[in-house]
Amino acid sequence: LAVGDSCASHFRRRGVSLRAMRAEAPPSVAPAGDGKAVLSEMVETAAVWCAAHGLVVGDRDNPRSGTVPGVGLVHAPFSLLPTRFPAYFWKQACELAPIFNELVDRVSLDGKFLQDSLSRTKQVDDFTARLLEIHAEMMAVNKKEDIRLGLHRSDYMLDSETNSLLQIELNTISTSFPGLGSLVSELHRTLLKQYREVLGLDSERVPRNYAATQFAEALGKAWAEYNNDRDGRPVAVVYFRAGYSPNDYPSEVEWSARLLIEQSSAIKCPSISYHLVGTKKMQQELAKPTVLERFLDNEEDIAKLRKCFAGLWSLDNEEIVKSAIEKPDLFVLKPQREGGGNNLYGHDLRETLIRLQNEQGEALAAYILMQRIFPRASLTHLVQGGVCFEDLTISELGIFGAYLRNKDKVIINDQSGYLMRTKVSSSNEGGVAAGFAVLDSILLT
Ligand code: ADP
Ligand code: MG
Ligand code: MG
Repeated sequence: LAVGDSCASHFRRRGVSLRAMRAEAPPSVAPAGDGKAVLSEMVETAAVWCAAHGLVVGDRDNPRSGTVPGVGLVHAPFSLLPTRFPAYFWKQACELAPIFNELVDRVSLDGKFLQDSLSRTKQVDDFTARLLEIHAEMMAVNKKEDIRLGLHRSDYMLDSETNSLLQIELNTISTSFPGLGSLVSELHRTLLKQYREVLGLDSERVPRNYAATQFAEALGKAWAEYNNDRDGRPVAVVYFRAGYSPNDYPSEVEWSARLLIEQSSAIKCPSISYHLVGTKKMQQELAKPTVLERFLDNEEDIAKLRKCFAGLWSLDNEEIVKSAIEKPDLFVLKPQREGGGNNLYGHDLRETLIRLQNEQGEALAAYILMQRIFPRASLTHLVQGGVCFEDLTISELGIFGAYLRNKDKVIINDQSGYLMRTKVSSSNEGGVAAGFAVLDSILLT
């Protein structure tokens, strides 16, 4: 295991004051020993722990990876220590999970609202149009989903300008990392315990993370609700690991499969309605004044949701488009896509807006504009491919939520673990798979 130079020198400078690796840490009592040696040992301990506990991903450098089971695995990229996160915001984010779960369910039942809200997007975005077609077919035959299962993840950043927790987006399909996220929290708890004397950090301040178990339990309970004991034939639950990107539908075959699944009596995670509620356009529509009131009764819940909404605008708002062209760095331009790497920032954002404006058609309707959130950056030790390096980073906290209901009976409506992702602050998008971001957990302060 190689230890990156910047990382090692940082440790030498500080002796073994690993505690100082996170912003605002109290000064450490320099323990005996060489900082570089302790750091190497920690990185090695962590990497071995990853291998032993399955905190691994496919290794792109190994051609047999992904084709031969058990071959070509590498530890997932991770931050060596958890990122400090105020307990106040943690509690706020956790409380939001069941409210968002309920909101998704309520909105999903209003087919006309979904169709109307996405009607302009549909004209210019073929992918959304195809999803809406399936949705319309289900509306036409009055298809009812009595049992509804949602495995969601609502993502947040702490905005340093307003010192508030703001939602980035809500994912309702193929929400990633419940499995690896749970493991990273466990890795950090283990390191904090093992290096307690050096770090002086209480492992109990890393919240336990049972995302994988809780999601599995929700899937299991959905199967139980389906309650059909005929010998393994009918499909009770369909979980979509793919299907959120146009690339997942290379031909008509995939689209007819999606339609067939939707027509079936299986519990779909997500149903076409749940999928559509999670689109960026719906996020923007739900943030409009008085819209939440259509779907939720509890005023406190509504206030809690609104508090975490950042500025969101559709592009028929000429004033905002003008502002964004003038000050592109204060905005993010988002198409109706998932999976990272699709948003536009800065120069690209400005150029795209100008181009779309000149086209004068409905092209602008494919996008939404969002207020750019600026989290405070801190120094972090990132470990990738066995190499540790130090960089300025910002973080995004995802809170998993599980929801299961059968007609009027709500069986599960819970916050179900979390996922911290930390990325170098110079990168706009990040993305763990893309190599800019690492898996992380939180240390409550
Ligand atoms: P996706 O569905 O592709 O994950 P996101 O809305 O989560 O789309 O955007 C991808 C990434 O872009 C986020 O993880 C975050 O790092 C960054 N991002 C998105 N919206 C904002 C924003 N308003 N301010 C700052 N960064 C953002
Ligand atoms: Mg998403
Ligand atoms: Mg995202």
